[in-house]
This record gives sequence, structure tokens and C-alpha cells, in this order.
Amino acid sequence: MKVLVLNSGSSSLKFQLFEMPQGKVLVKGLAERIGEETGRFKANDYEVIEKIPTHKEALELLTAYLLNPAHHIIKDKSEIKIVGHRVVHGGNTFVQPTIIDAAVKSKIKDLFSLAPLHNPANLTGIETAEEIFPQATQIAVFDTAFHQTIPQINHQYAIPEKFYKAGIRKYGFHGISHQYVSREANKRLGKTNTKVITLHLGNGASATAVLNGKSYDTSMGFGPMNGLIMGTRSGDIDQSIIFYLVQKMGYSLEEVQNILNKKSGMTALAGSNDLRDVETAAGKGDQKAQLALEMYAGAIKKYIGNYTAQMDGLDALVFTAGIGENSETVRALATKNLTYLGLEIDSEKNNAPHVFKGDITGKQSKVKVWVIPTNEELEIAQQAFALIK
Ligand code: AMP
Repeated sequence: MKVLVLNSGSSSLKFQLFEMPQGKVLVKGLAERIGEETGRFKANDYEVIEKIPTHKEALELLTAYLLNPAHHIIKDKSEIKIVGHRVVHGGNTFVQPTIIDAAVKSKIKDLFSLAPLHNPANLTGIETAEEIFPQATQIAVFDTAFHQTIPQINHQYAIPEKFYKAGIRKYGFHGISHQYVSREANKRLGKTNTKVITLHLGNGASATAVLNGKSYDTSMGFGPMNGLIMGTRSGDIDQSIIFYLVQKMGYSLEEVQNILNKKSGMTALAGSNDLRDVETAAGKGDQKAQLALEMYAGAIKKYIGNYTAQMDGLDALVFTAGIGENSETVRALATKNLTYLGLEIDSEKNNAPHVFKGDITGKQSKVKVWVIPTNEELEIAQQAFALIK
């Protein structure tokens, strides 16, 4: 059975077509820099650089690729039986993979305010897929589900209890990714009673403390703005800044929300949300870009310390997602001077982790450090396929 998995981000659309239950990848690719001047579409070894205005054009490029007789993938769109969607926020409603109908879409829409950067893009992906693959069963897999195990000590905020009762709590995000790579880490450790920190560093970024295979704490919270510095999001800030911007500087709440979601993070610090641009600029001696990289890595380091303290130790640190998998600079900066934790990386291995199966652990290190490519798409395909079965 052919299962198409779509991961619609704010500026990207990742996709994989699987033959299930084998989990064989038939097509893998992404459209990135959607909405920017120059976009890139890649499916297997086919690549095109052109403006991709919205997710719709990205899916149309994918469909054209799948139906192209030269590629021998599908003859008719009806061969795709399931489209599995990553949906960022499931609130308290969605704790399992769910078949999408009008009510589910409406609930995903209700949750826009909790994930203003992502749920709208996810819903766009769903609606576009319904248009283009009308025969397929559309299934949503939620990124908040893995973090439901976070204990109350970590998921409740110290604000009046009525708000907690109204659902204001830490939900956490990137759960599918943290779940996948922490399971891979436990496989490598050969046990499940483990203390692992997983760092999902993509356009959005979060750190998770995974204690004995379960999410114990995570850096994103009620919404996906908290925690690490991200491409366009501020990460942790002092809440009083929001009141100051509104009450003293005359910004509307909507403007502040837009600033903290879309105009902050690396965009604010270094002029680009793409870490490759920031690294290039830093390499040319741009001081702001260099500072931005150090701040980015510094925020990660604070969470490594926090979570190691909470779990009373650390067996493994895992880097994943676009930046975690590809930026030796960020990995080196984030793990610099952690020898008091017994953690160090091997700089030669860090420069070419794929050669060493992702193991970049230093010789003296007591803590394993791995680069493990995330595979949210496979995780979604398996969960969606299991639901239909
Ligand atoms: P993701 O959200 O996982 O797709 O990750 C997107 C982020 O990964 C963007 O900020 C990219 O700049 C970054 N990224 C992708 N490739 C590289 C690379 N080779 N070096 C540094 N950052 C990268």
C-alpha cells in the first residue's frame, strides 16, 4: 500500500512516499524556501530551483513528478491510499493518530492560536492534499502526543490554577522527532532505563529530556515559541518585554505576536533565518553573525545543563534536524566546555559524522554524543498505516 507523508512547515514541505508495511521509500524530497524569492524542489535526484509561492505549487510539483511515466512511480493518483500529515498542535484533544474529517479540520483550526506559525501551514497541506488526492484517507499525526508523559512538576505553570484547569500547560512540540531519535539512541545504548537529551534543531528548535524512553521535560511549552533561539522565533524571553512593548512602546498585541514569531531569532540577530547564510556571514568576519551563532549555541547549552541536572546525569546527547544534522559549527559551540559533565566531542568526527555512523563522541567522554538523522516521515507512515489496518 502506498502511503504519502506530508510534513508542511512554515517555509518548507517535506514528503516521502512509502510502500507499506515494508517502509520502503519510493520517493523522498522537499520543497524549501517556499514564499521566498528562490525556492528549491527536490524529489529523489530530480531538482528544480524556482519560485514556489505557496504549498499548493509545491504539491503540484510533487504530483507532476509522481505521475511522470519516466519515473515509474504511479500511473494514477488513486494508487495513493493514505496521506499522513504531521500536525504540530493537538491540544488536549488529539493524543493519537486521527482520520481527518470536517470536524477534525475545524478543531485543528481552533488550535491556530496555540501554534500560529505551524497549524495553518499543516491545514493548508491537508486541504491541498484533499484536493489533489481525493480518494486517499487523510490522517493526522500530532507532534504534541509524545510529550503527554511530561510530569506535572514540569508541565504545570506557576500561575493561578484556573488557567491550568482551562488547558494552559506545557504541551511541547517536535514530539514525533524526539520520539524517533530517542528510541534510536536507546537502541544504541542497548537499554531503556536511560537519560537522554535530544536536540531537534531545525527552523523550529527544541530540546527534550527523555528519561527511561519517555519525555520528561521539553523546551517548548504551551506554544512553539519558548525555549531555544530559532530561525524567526525568539525562544525564552522575559515576559515583561511583552508588557513593555504594548504599554510603553505602543505596539498592538498582534504586532508583538508577529515580532516574536516571525521577526525574531536568527532573522533578528543576523538577518537570515537560514543558518547556512549565518555561517557564511560569520565565516567572512561578520560580528553580528558570529554573536548570533554563539547565542544560538549558548541557549542549547543552558538546556543541556538544566536537563542533566533534572535527570541527575546524562547517557547520551543527540543532535537532529536540519541544523543538528548538518552544522558542525553549532554542534561544536554547543558542546564546548562541557568537560565538567564528562562530555566532549571528537572534532574530526564532528566534521564528518556520517563516516562514523553519527557517533561524534570524544575519546575521554563519559556521555555519548550522536548525530541521528530524524525520520518523522517514517514514524508518521507507520502510525497512519497501523491506524488503517
Ligand atoms: P529543518 O526545519 O529541519 O528542515 O531545518 C531547517 C534549517 O536547517 C535551516 O535553518 C537550514 O539553514 C538548516 N540547514 C540545512 N542544511 C544545513 C547545512 N548544511 N548547514 C547548516 N544549516 C543547515
